[in-house]
Amino acid sequence: MSDLPIATPRELAAYARRAVRTHRGEFALVVVLQACAAVAGLFAPWLLGTLVADVTHGHDTVLRMVLLILGCLAAQAALVRLAEYAAARLGEKVLADLREDFVADLLGLPPETVEDTDAGDLITRTTRDIDQLSGAIRSAIPATMTSVGIVCFTLGALLLISPLLLLPCLLSVPVLYGAARWYLRRAHEGYLRQAATYSRLTESLAETVEGARTVESLRLTARRMAEVDESIATSYAAERYTLRLRNVFLPLCDTSYALPVAAMLIFGGTLYLHGAVSLAAVTAGTLYASQLLNPLDQLMFWLDSLQSAAAALARLLGMARFRQPAPAAVTTGTAPGAGGAARGSEVRDIDGRDVAVRDIEVRDLRYAYQPGHDVLCGIDLTIRQGEWLAVVGPSGAGKSTLAKLLAGIYTPHGGGITVGGREVAGLAPTERRGTVALVTQEHHVFRGSLRDNLTIARPDAGDQEIADALRAVDAWEWAEELGVDGAVGPGGQALDPAKVQQLALARLLLADPDILILDEATSLLNPRAARHLERSLAAVTTGRTVIAVVHRLHTAQDADRIAVLDDGRVTEFGTHEELLAKNGAYAGLWHAWQG
Ligand code: ATP
Repeated sequence: MSDLPIATPRELAAYARRAVRTHRGEFALVVVLQACAAVAGLFAPWLLGTLVADVTHGHDTVLRMVLLILGCLAAQAALVRLAEYAAARLGEKVLADLREDFVADLLGLPPETVEDTDAGDLITRTTRDIDQLSGAIRSAIPATMTSVGIVCFTLGALLLISPLLLLPCLLSVPVLYGAARWYLRRAHEGYLRQAATYSRLTESLAETVEGARTVESLRLTARRMAEVDESIATSYAAERYTLRLRNVFLPLCDTSYALPVAAMLIFGGTLYLHGAVSLAAVTAGTLYASQLLNPLDQLMFWLDSLQSAAAALARLLGMARFRQPAPAAVTTGTAPGAGGAARGSEVRDIDGRDVAVRDIEVRDLRYAYQPGHDVLCGIDLTIRQGEWLAVVGPSGAGKSTLAKLLAGIYTPHGGGITVGGREVAGLAPTERRGTVALVTQEHHVFRGSLRDNLTIARPDAGDQEIADALRAVDAWEWAEELGVDGAVGPGGQALDPAKVQQLALARLLLADPDILILDEATSLLNPRAARHLERSLAAVTTGRTVIAVVHRLHTAQDADRIAVLDDGRVTEFGTHEELLAKNGAYAGLWHAWQG
């Protein structure tokens, strides 16, 4: 299992710059509205200071000042609402872009990576990380921007009233700076570690639930419980670490907020007594100092959410590493995925040459799961366009590995596979899906109707095409009874494994790729039904290249040619009759099978 990548701080900064550039108009509006709200908030303390001075000097300006103060407060409240609304709109847009990119990155993940990746990591990224980021974009970022605006403008106002009165506010700077520096140095890594432990915990739980029957039958409950407990303990330790960071950081911040107000009263009072500043200035300064408490508190509070959101963003953006550059080759057939049309002779290679025949050429193909342990050791094969090839061999010979390489799920470690002259591994994912499709024993029934499950492969498929596909896989009878719009999958009608397999094959027929790779795709059916289905499939797949990994040799008998794989090598290759005549490994397997 390998870990999915995580974006570096530099990539995060580049993403933030890109997001601001993309939405520069909205971003500017938010900044302007927040600045106006912050400025409006500065008038009330200043007017109060003036009122105190007026009253001291016996001027009756109370009513006028009170009305002005109320007006300023109302304007501030309206501007704050507007700024919040604009920030929320901007946040939702950024979030929508991010979600779309993430889904595109997720769907574009190389199959080999999906196979090799910890499922818990993928699940945690798509659920918890997205949630954390949504929370931060909706609340933490707007609140942080507002707080920064208020702090800057309040300090600016203090500077205007009297630069001397800035000094008491600066008292909290070293404490806040030291605490924030200490915290930020540790928090990002801490939150990344915490998210990774959630991934492991999710993986461990998902695995236990998926394999519940095996766990129970092999009496592995205690062992699985111990593993889950260990994952919880690791996760708990990671949580405690970030909690400890917050427990040091937040109280330090709280202490530092009280300093400016106390210092302002003492220092401002002393200055006033010595005639260095006016009473109005000291009053306004004290109100400004106390006005700093809330935004500073908010800033430090949201800094924590921003840290965990930054960790979540780093995990989501890490998926962008798999983005593929636009494919260089041009297809002149129907759009990839529509299938069928490219069958025949309509593909051009990168140099613009027509590649007439879509034969599959396998040359010196090598693959190893672990370095130094080749599972395929130099396979050479030519599979002709429209041919039905059966791959047989003992367990562990490398048949499934070959199937996955032919489907482009794995990338060869040596040699190569070309279709119509083009490397399968080099095809863009959408084009590859339209060209080659692999059906294994593992299928999924999605929540929805039977129709939904089929039209995933071809959204524009009509009733007739759906019925034809179901008939071709011998599934029409039960499908008609259930109804094409009947609910299946979680919450719907449960389908037995054989029906699920038929559904997967019908889906494949609708997807209509040029090359079908069946890896024991009918193994869940009883032998007679399997043979019948394979014959029906053969009829509808005429003109399409089919490579079938088979255990039941009657399927091999029906194939155009047979490749016998043993220990990662093709040991025999030919028709059923030729291989029987040869009296080698295949003949041995056949006679054993015949009993
Ligand atoms: P079977 O008929 O039992 O399915 P097969 O001929 O399809 O076997 P493969 O599944 O391709 O054989 O496996 C070939 C070798 O590679 C086996 O030794 C197997 O243990 C090993 N192998 C398969 N998948 C992996 C994997 N994901 N990681 C490591 N080794 C693997």
